[in-house]
Formats: sequence, C-alpha cells, structure tokens
Amino acid sequence: MAEISLIDVHAHLEDVEDLSQVLQEARSAKVKAVIAVGFDKASNRKILKIAESNRNYVYPAIGYHPWGIREEEVAENLSFIRDYLNECIALGEVGLDYKVKVKKELQWRVLETILDLALIHDKPVILHCRFSHSRTFNMVRERGIKKAVFHWYSGPIDLLEEILAAGYLISATPALRYSPPHQAAIKLAPLERILLETDTPVVYQGKESRPRDVLISLEEVARLKGLNPNVIAEQTTLNASRFFQIPFNSFPGL
Ligand SMILES: [Zn+2]
Repeated sequence: MAEISLIDVHAHLEDVEDLSQVLQEARSAKVKAVIAVGFDKASNRKILKIAESNRNYVYPAIGYHPWGIREEEVAENLSFIRDYLNECIALGEVGLDYKVKVKKELQWRVLETILDLALIHDKPVILHCRFSHSRTFNMVRERGIKKAVFHWYSGPIDLLEEILAAGYLISATPALRYSPPHQAAIKLAPLERILLETDTPVVYQGKESRPRDVLISLEEVARLKGLNPNVIAEQTTLNASRFFQIPFNSFPGL
C-alpha cells in the first residue's frame, strides 16, 4: 500500500493498558492521529492528561456517556465539561441510549445542556445512539448543531438519509465485518460523510480493539464501496481533519 494517513476518530484510550506501546503500534499502522473520547468526569480527566502527554497525536474530546449518567452526578459532570471544553477538539461521547436504565427524561436533559455547550463553544459533537436515533437526530437538528458525527451508525436507513441531508457524518468501525445494519449505512453514505474509528477497546469477534485496527475499518469500507483503500484513506482523513479542524501539517511525517 502506498503511504497513507489514517485517523482513529473514536477511542476510549483511558481504558487501554500499555498505552505508549499501543500508540506506537498505531503509528506503525499509519495512524497519524487518535481522537480520545470521554465517558464521564473521571475519564475526561484522564483523557486530558493522555492528550497532554501525546500532543499532536492524541486529540481530546470530553463528554458524558448516557451509560454513565447518574442523577446526583449530573451537575459536576456538566460543570467539568464547561470548564475544560475549550481545551478539546470536540464534545463526546454523548447521546441517548434507551437500552440502559437511565431515565429518558434525564438523558434528554443532559443532552440538551451538552448541545447548548457545543453551540456556545462551537465544537463538533460525537454521538452515541441506541434505539434512540430519531430522537437524537431531532434534538441535534432542532438545536441548530452544524457538526455532528453519528458514531458507529447502525440505525434505520430512512433516518440516515435525513441525517445525511442535514449535513451530518457517520463513522465506520471494525463491526463492518459482521454487522448488516452498519454495512448498509456505510454503503449508503457518500465517502465525503464517512469517518473511520475503532471504539477501542470494544471487542469485535472475540478480540479487543486498538487504534491500529482502524485499518480494519478502512479495508471494510473499501470492500463495501468497491474502491481502492488508498482512496478511502485519503478522503476519510481529509474528512476528519476538516470536521475536527486538525491541521494536516500537525501530523508528524506528513
Ligand atoms: Zn465509544
């Protein structure tokens, strides 16, 4: 393969052991940048530290994942995001998940506040949705959010058409190897609206993922689109660099 550059736009790096070795392996796999996404206050704190010690390679996004929402911790989590958002390139991971036992009303309230912060600070939003795609999309669109990525999109295809028409992006994971709804979404979305990611350390087919596995996402998108992986790499990296405003010239080796 010719010289390519990849960006893993979604990794939970604070959950990875031997991080320096893992990042070294990612560099060898042509991964030129990793977006570390936050889960809650404790995780956000770790991510900011990881990004600080891996400047121009790990870029931080802080968030409040619906799985981590606890009524009594909402205020401190939101105020942490408010205080540190300007040090981040995006807000995430945030969203709605109707499979978890967190009241919908509480999830909506948290997401509304977070979307307001995204507007005030002009940051892109990294969205998680499960059985909640349509509500999430409506909230994001009605609030006038300009930049959002529906991470690992596996929702309804007719809704995806609306999401794309509204100008939003979706991201591709190694689950493309086996997930028909995810494959259908990636087939439909134009290449200009696709980002690559791993959701590290999610386990795919029995194996814990790492940022270097963004190569799997790349291969699978290439297979589904019937295009050369170099073409996919070039376009998706350009998409990520525009979406997160990561300047190409900050990549070592470019
Ligand atoms: Zn995630």
